[in-house]
Amino acid sequence: MSETEEQAAPAEEAEGEETAAAREERRRHHATAMRLVRQFPDPALRTPARTVEDVDDEVRALAARMAEIMEQSHGVGLAAPQIGVLRRLLVYRLSADESARTVINPTISDLSEETDVDSEGCLSLLGGELQVPIERSLRLVLTGVDGEGKPVRVEAEGLEARVLQHEIDHLNGVLILDRAAKEDRRALMRELRLRA
Ligand code: ZN
Repeated sequence: MSETEEQAAPAEEAEGEETAAAREERRRHHATAMRLVRQFPDPALRTPARTVEDVDDEVRALAARMAEIMEQSHGVGLAAPQIGVLRRLLVYRLSADESARTVINPTISDLSEETDVDSEGCLSLLGGELQVPIERSLRLVLTGVDGEGKPVRVEAEGLEARVLQHEIDHLNGVLILDRAAKEDRRALMRELRLRA
């Protein structure tokens, strides 16, 4: 998942007054995503990923590479299929100064019925440039294993729950296109076609 507009542009910068340095940084993040992250309609984004059988050095190297790409493209989450690897592995972080967390073979349980709607972007849709309102459960429990193969259990809410739902969707070949309201989906598709 890409950062939201708010996170990308600090609050003290009024709209339209983005500094040249901030603009250049944003351009660099975007270029990195376009270069290193698979872009729609790449078939890897539509193929369900396979369970990771062994958490070995190869898997740890993959997680490290994903964390690096996520940071360089200023994302808050990245799933392995987004770099063309069809394994059930995701990395995420809740702010730019936090180090990446790795979750392998993640499973969601206890999805709350209570939901909210917020803007989401995706590094695989024009490198994160498009934002679309998506309804997600507010809370969930996530289980899986970390890069050392140790069990992970996260009780997530708010942004963390949103990022995890977005990334797990990627492991199942699902994109925000599929979750957007009909009108928003149409607008998204139009934009994707125009700029392809
Ligand atoms: Zn995404």
